[in-house]
Amino acid sequence: MITLQDYFGDKPHPTEYNLNALTLLYRVNNLIAAYTTDTGKMPEINPITGSQVSGSKGGDGGFRLPTSTTGSSKSAHKLGMAIDLYDHGEHLDKWLDAKPDALIKYDLYREEPASTVNWLHLSSRKPLSGKRTFKP
Ligand SMILES: [Zn+2]
Repeated sequence: MITLQDYFGDKPHPTEYNLNALTLLYRVNNLIAAYTTDTGKMPEINPITGSQVSGSKGGDGGFRLPTSTTGSSKSAHKLGMAIDLYDHGEHLDKWLDAKPDALIKYDLYREEPASTVNWLHLSSRKPLSGKRTFKP
């Protein structure tokens, strides 16, 4: 289970972003639980972050500060509305390819697997295309 602490770390953020992140993590944790129920496997823990969050410790897999230069300047990570999950081997991506309805059920959007090798970007913010799986 991914916690607010896993997501924000020590990064200062407006209080209202806690609600964004709680909404995001509620959906993501439920999606992960569905993956585990379906496959009998737990998603791997990133040995660097010590959680299911991708990237480096204190890095940009969870919340991103307004000054972060990782990804898009208007990234949903900067609003507490997106997360990168560690997905070495693309297990979660392959499961979502086979079960695309899970994105609808948990009301999440993901970047296309080809753009996220060894991680999985999930967002609670609908992209302009409205597609559940979109090109960044
Ligand atoms: Zn991302």
